[in-house]
Amino acid sequence: MKATAALIREVGGKFTLEDVEIAEPRCNEVRVRIVGVGMCHTDLVARDGFPVPMPIVLGHEGSGVVEALGPDVQGLAVGDHVVLSFNSCGACPTCHEDAPAYCHNFMGLNFAGVRLDDGSSPLSQGDAVVHGNFFGQSSFATVAIANARNTVKVDKSLPLEILGPLGCGIQTGAGGVVLSLGLKAGQSLAIFGGGAVGLSGLLAAKAIGAGTVIVVEPNMERGKLAKELGATHVINPRETEDVLAAIKELTGTGVNCAFDTTGIPAVIGTAFEALGPHGVLGMVAVPPPEAMMPASLMSGLVRGVTVKFITEGDADPQAFIPQMLEWYQAGKFPFDRLVKTFAFDHINEAAHASESGEAIKPVLLI
Ligand SMILES: [Zn+2]
Ligand SMILES: [Zn+2]
Repeated sequence: MKATAALIREVGGKFTLEDVEIAEPRCNEVRVRIVGVGMCHTDLVARDGFPVPMPIVLGHEGSGVVEALGPDVQGLAVGDHVVLSFNSCGACPTCHEDAPAYCHNFMGLNFAGVRLDDGSSPLSQGDAVVHGNFFGQSSFATVAIANARNTVKVDKSLPLEILGPLGCGIQTGAGGVVLSLGLKAGQSLAIFGGGAVGLSGLLAAKAIGAGTVIVVEPNMERGKLAKELGATHVINPRETEDVLAAIKELTGTGVNCAFDTTGIPAVIGTAFEALGPHGVLGMVAVPPPEAMMPASLMSGLVRGVTVKFITEGDADPQAFIPQMLEWYQAGKFPFDRLVKTFAFDHINEAAHASESGEAIKPVLLI
């Protein structure tokens, strides 16, 4: 069938809306009519040269309605409302440990641009191949082929068009704080960076009843939003001479957990030192390839701290997306406050708004 998709034809190029043909869903595949799709930092990293084949359809925070099912798909039906997340194989040791974000086939299943079993793409233009399967979905399109494993059924009473970011950016922040760091009610947390991931971490911290939550963020508007969303303190690093001293002053011995969403080594050094005894530091940002961890081994040893690198918030989307939606329905997780919507044909403006910081979480309405 025909669909309209946003293609990237060359590294650093603009998104262009073009007609594509979409193949019928195969075994374990699901065809989804997309109604909304978030834009995540990883889409822009891929646009700008992260090794994906081109031309390609990006987009990995899709939400929509199931239109057709491949043979053998169970647990989904035509007409279901769904959120699409990252893909995983379901058969490797880490998938068996219920840690699909560290699937042994993660890179191939999410970045190869083709099906791993036979190298084919579900997308084409006449005889020309268009790469798809980005995060098992390629949802910058009116229709996407996803996989049963990364398709999560949601309640029809929910605002489907803005749910897509629960599949990646929001899951990364919220899961990072409550699943990876294991933040408990009453505990303290310092979040470095108040973008979509950092503020999602804040929302999850509030949802589970965290104590002191400090957000370190230079953008004043984001700082203001963090306060509105429940941060007990916001520190502007441009106006604070010693961020570490400021955190220690607020918390006495330091925080139980620190969450870095910046990937900046100097910031990570501060986050590491801001931990109190037996604290946990989590890192989710894509750092520059040459970046090293600036931390004192002795300082870490005497406090017994834990350092974790985190992909997709350590979440199993089939369990954690429903958890976030339960919080949302109970009024404890207002992730819609992070969303700014754009028409599909304004996709390049949405990308620009994401990069300039004007939009925290752009969502395209398809
Ligand atoms: Zn796997
Ligand atoms: Zn993402």
